[in-house]
Amino acid sequence: MLKTEAIAKHFGGLEVLSDVNLSVGAGEIVGLLGPNGSGKTTLLNILSGFLRPSGGRIHYGGRDIGGMAPEAIARLGIRRTFQLPRMPEKMSCAELLLTAVEQPAGARLLAWPGRARAEARDARKRAFEMLEHLELTRVAHQPASGISGGQQKLLALGAAILGGARLLLLDEPTAGVNPTLRLRLVETLQDIRRQGVTLVVVEHDMGFIGRLCDRCVVLDRGVLIADCKPEHLMENERVVEAYLGKR
Ligand code: ATP
Repeated sequence: MLKTEAIAKHFGGLEVLSDVNLSVGAGEIVGLLGPNGSGKTTLLNILSGFLRPSGGRIHYGGRDIGGMAPEAIARLGIRRTFQLPRMPEKMSCAELLLTAVEQPAGARLLAWPGRARAEARDARKRAFEMLEHLELTRVAHQPASGISGGQQKLLALGAAILGGARLLLLDEPTAGVNPTLRLRLVETLQDIRRQGVTLVVVEHDMGFIGRLCDRCVVLDRGVLIADCKPEHLMENERVVEAYLGKR
């Protein structure tokens, strides 16, 4: 479904990614790991069009998407969340999710106005079910920019899921999220995988990775050093050394 070929990125003289070859199959959940500063967010930024690679290619569903704008990539069904979510100032949490649900339906509403009321009802139901699932019902009508950082992460995740993602790129979805809800998130993400969504998840929490992912890949100073099942991660000497800083 997604394949990168020799992705490179440098900022001035700083080489942040080098020769990154990553394949993600349809329906997989892949963890993207690595020490701080190893290039994980930079790679997500490139896959989602927020940064142009300095070299290499990205194939998605038979197209070369390297260098496409973020909006064009989102229209292909690649959605992402950010480590620090950016929330609109004037929208409540419920409105934000409603907007997310309504986007893919928008074209159909214009083409067939008679269905508008039923679709609006359905959008509302899905938005409020998602709020309840993420334990955000209490803040449904609060401004999205005013809820806590952890709650904003959950809301952004809910919007990405409702937005009709085929490939979801998540940047540290559980940082700042309480342990009970973290377990719930594993179930939510496995549920959406069963609905055909593919996931790439940047995470530091090994427990979360072990419960959620089929496979994990590890970046160290911009180079992919491992690609294995989560349970074999710590058998890899290069991975252990990267995390212990023994290089
Ligand atoms: P963390 O786990 O701490 O979030 P990361 O693996 O996601 O780290 P990146 O955020 O991708 O790492 O950063 C990798 C390197 O690239 C860092 O040294 C960072 O300073 C550098 N970097 C990222 N973006 C830029 C930029 N716009 N300009 C210059 N350097 C950058």
